[in-house]
Amino acid sequence: MIEFHSVSKRYGALQVIHDVSATVEKGTTIVLCGPSGSGKSTLVRTVNRLEPIQSGRITVAGRDIHEKSVDVNTLRSGIGFVFQQFNLFPHLTVVDNVMLPLRRLRGQSRRQALPTAMLMLERVGLADRAQSLPADISGGQAQRVAIARSLILKPEILILDEPTSALDPEMVGEVLKLLRELSAGGITLMCVTHEMGFAREVADRIWFLKSGRLTFDASPDLFFSQEAHPDVRGFLSSIH
Ligand code: ATP
Ligand code: MG
Repeated sequence: MIEFHSVSKRYGALQVIHDVSATVEKGTTIVLCGPSGSGKSTLVRTVNRLEPIQSGRITVAGRDIHEKSVDVNTLRSGIGFVFQQFNLFPHLTVVDNVMLPLRRLRGQSRRQALPTAMLMLERVGLADRAQSLPADISGGQAQRVAIARSLILKPEILILDEPTSALDPEMVGEVLKLLRELSAGGITLMCVTHEMGFAREVADRIWFLKSGRLTFDASPDLFFSQEAHPDVRGFLSSIH
């Protein structure tokens, strides 16, 4: 479970997150949406301390992530993070990219890490591309590799920041299918996306951010209804 308690964040004088309070229940899927610049990336990046906050409190599994006793590497091992731009290392093969967290954070040798990395690649349907370089696979495949890498330490939480925005349209489906499977598998998922079909079908709650404020936090049924906040209805009509 992730809890945001009155979280605020500034970049210098610019306040980009205003007093956000919300809960992500364990095993649920949250979709975060909102206009460009509304603070979606900033908010999800606070959860693994990629972004510091100025006030409020964030707890993961009941523990304040900013407590002195919390080791940031341990925190990040429990939270997989996937970026829009995959961030694979171009000079490493697919399987070497996937095993990297085991080598760096668990001190495993390549040989020790290999079977786990191959299992992860099977899970995302890419075992046959293990020896390819990132440049030689498609964008959709690269994103699935990045997801495999983010899962290799068996995190309880997976956060994705616009995982399909950089993909050609025909590749979006394969990534969303994988996310649907992960969601059904019980991981806690926080996904920034404008894929509203996915949100409607998979999300337990949809959060709408506007100018750094969480102005709506609702079930998909409510989110897509006429009863939704006027900002949400305006946003939905603007992206369709
Ligand atoms: P997008 O949909 O375009 O990805 P977003 O909702 O993810 O937008 P953020 O990237 O979180 O929005 O940005 C929120 C605000 O913070 C914006 O006004 C942005 O310009 C500002 N901002 C983001 N990163 C920084 C930074 N490193 N330094 C200063 N300002 C920043
Ligand atoms: Mg963003």
